[in-house]
Amino acid sequence: TAPGNESLTCPGCGLVSYCSQRHLEEDEDDHEDICDALKGVVELLGTKRAHDKAYLLGPDQWREFRLGVVNLCSKQLGRPLMPWETEVCLYPPHCATCHKFCTATERCLECHSISWCSSQHKPKQHSEHCRQLTLMRQILQRKVHVIKAPQLNDVPAEMYALFSEGGDLVTFSLLTEIATSPLTILQQLPNSESASVHIIGPEPHFEANNLSKWEIFLFNLLPSVSTLTLNFVGPEIGPLPPRKINKNGR
Ligand SMILES: [Zn+2]
Ligand SMILES: [Zn+2]
Ligand SMILES: [Zn+2]
Ligand SMILES: [Zn+2]
Repeated sequence: TAPGNESLTCPGCGLVSYCSQRHLEEDEDDHEDICDALKGVVELLGTKRAHDKAYLLGPDQWREFRLGVVNLCSKQLGRPLMPWETEVCLYPPHCATCHKFCTATERCLECHSISWCSSQHKPKQHSEHCRQLTLMRQILQRKVHVIKAPQLNDVPAEMYALFSEGGDLVTFSLLTEIATSPLTILQQLPNSESASVHIIGPEPHFEANNLSKWEIFLFNLLPSVSTLTLNFVGPEIGPLPPRKINKNGR
């Protein structure tokens, strides 16, 4: 996106910006549906942009308002929104304080995630949120997404124990993210020759995002297990190809 470059904001919905005419055209097919739906919302609400009525709403109402836009768009299209469509509805360019639409504004130079329409609207309490957003940004910008599997001989009582020799916050967060699901079920598993786990309602971005994390943690911590069967049950992840994970012949 190119904040401040009004000429490359989508002329239909006015919510999505592009760095170049070429990228605007490339996105046209993907953007068309949500753009039409947002135009419908604008007609329904009688405003210039879909989120204009959210001006000065409190944080909870602002959140509800945006979810309302998601629902209205979904109704217009007669289908659930795709992830990128939901993002357009949930994160329009806006002032963090009054929610007024704004692109050519000041923004936080730490997290680059929030902006404000005028210096009076610069948020006063942003530091904790900023720290988390900055970390998220660092994680997304990280070039190497593979982190070395920790060598585990025992269940760590604390996640911090996974760091034998130092570690930065980004690595720590990534480790926490991958270790949470397997370590949650670890205590329930018998240390017998075979184990079968049913994961009900797995999220594509959480339990099912990285199958080898199950292998790394469970095989490492349950030395007697030679066969581990993971069953992901639920419509959320769509069809997953059956996949064998093996380590040291297991
Ligand atoms: Zn549009
Ligand atoms: Zn671009
Ligand atoms: Zn404002
Ligand atoms: Zn910030």
